Amino acid sequence: MRTALRGRDGTAEGSLDWAAMEGRAHGESDPAEILRRSVENGRVHSSYLFTGTGALPGERARAFARALACNAPVEGRACEACGACQRSREDDETDPIVLDGKGKRGPTHRHLGDHPDLLYVERGADDTRITIRQVRDVQNALRLGANEGGRRVAIFEGAEWLNPQAQNALLRLLEEPPPGTSLILVASRASAIIATIRSRSVRIRFPSDESRVLRGPEADEGVVEIVSLLDGLRGRSIGEVLDFAESYRGARAVAAEGVTELIDVSAEWLRQDVKTRVARGETPAVRALDAYRSLQQLRRDLIQRNANPQMVAERLLLGLRDATG
Ligand SMILES: [Zn+2]
Repeated sequence: MRTALRGRDGTAEGSLDWAAMEGRAHGESDPAEILRRSVENGRVHSSYLFTGTGALPGERARAFARALACNAPVEGRACEACGACQRSREDDETDPIVLDGKGKRGPTHRHLGDHPDLLYVERGADDTRITIRQVRDVQNALRLGANEGGRRVAIFEGAEWLNPQAQNALLRLLEEPPPGTSLILVASRASAIIATIRSRSVRIRFPSDESRVLRGPEADEGVVEIVSLLDGLRGRSIGEVLDFAESYRGARAVAAEGVTELIDVSAEWLRQDVKTRVARGETPAVRALDAYRSLQQLRRDLIQRNANPQMVAERLLLGLRDATG
């Protein structure tokens, strides 16, 4: 579906080159295949950067970590039978331990299952970011060496929520990784990660969540609400747009999450809008391309520069209103 937009055949859509804008590589092997081979020949790197939206990159990171800890992987996957696999198995019935960036209301990191060598970090439930404290605690745990004698793996999921200071702390770990240790950073997009980390990491790209359904009965309720707003933007007054943006007021972590969703849905909405225009034989407006670039900039502002979520929502909606009007 979306591949049509990635065309580089000189057509109008090709000249937009959405893929390049998203920093996506062309003609790469399947990410699952790269990871499988890596487990099979034991050529494991000290740092990986998994990128892509949706749950898939995180799921694959956990499966990869479990395969690395497994005593006898089968075709590059955890065998599910050995002692290590039993320890690393995540119980679907039990809610995972809730983390706290300050380590007060919960630990700063947890394990996959109860495997001592597989560490997992995400943003604390009440935190805006992954904290430097979380990075340091993982560093200390990794420096203690492997408990089970195998490989140690630390996963940072939602790595776009590491601030630059925390990323620099991680960088020092990457520069001198403890032996037998791998880090896996999982981020929605690579641009959220500092270049010095990116250049030291093996990049595993997952397709962005292409299955994202914007319309119809299968679409998520929140998504439908955003899409109907976007569809009607053209006819809205500035006041109405600002009113909607006001719904992103309040606790920053929650508001930022909401605006991230708004950006994701808007990006997909723009892509589909362009696709429809191309199908009708129209040349997509340069404004659509600009609007798309602005979305990426707004995402950076929100995530890296701590911009106010409500203001980001205002800029996004007013920009799209102009671009599609
Ligand atoms: Zn196993």
